[in-house]
Amino acid sequence: MRLCVAIVVFFPLFLAVGATSSSPDMFPPISGLSLADLRDTFEEVHNGHRHEAIDLLEPRGTPVHAVVSGTIRKLFLSKPGGNTIYEFDETGVYCYYYAHLEGYAEGLREGTRVERGDVIGFVGSTGNADARVPHLHFAIFELGPERQWWKGKAVNPYPRLVDAVKRAQ
Ligand SMILES: [Zn+2]
Repeated sequence: MRLCVAIVVFFPLFLAVGATSSSPDMFPPISGLSLADLRDTFEEVHNGHRHEAIDLLEPRGTPVHAVVSGTIRKLFLSKPGGNTIYEFDETGVYCYYYAHLEGYAEGLREGTRVERGDVIGFVGSTGNADARVPHLHFAIFELGPERQWWKGKAVNPYPRLVDAVKRAQ
């Protein structure tokens, strides 16, 4: 009887823990960021589209870090995004998108497993970015049940970037 009570009490707790682990604390994608470097431009219209991302203006060649542990699902040279990385988290719930990269970290391949904080690429201005304003375009997508890298619901990364920067300070 006592055991049954324990299960009833703790079951919702396990569910809550599971939900939290699907959205893990992020490592800052750029080292040494301060809150002043973050601007919430998620809702802004850029090139006729809702931006749905945050831009981090950094010198060309600045290392870009994986914000969570996971798997490189796609490396893709796209016309708007330039050199891009699509990283899935360990649970395959979220996709983290890094764009306009100057290049990828040596040896990075589709399927490479990365740890939170690993250098995966370098800031640049490839794609439709202004060559005079190198930056990291960073986005988060909530993946659908099919886990397709090209299909997801954009989630505003701003609050999670603020948390990541605060924790790193
Ligand atoms: Zn952008």
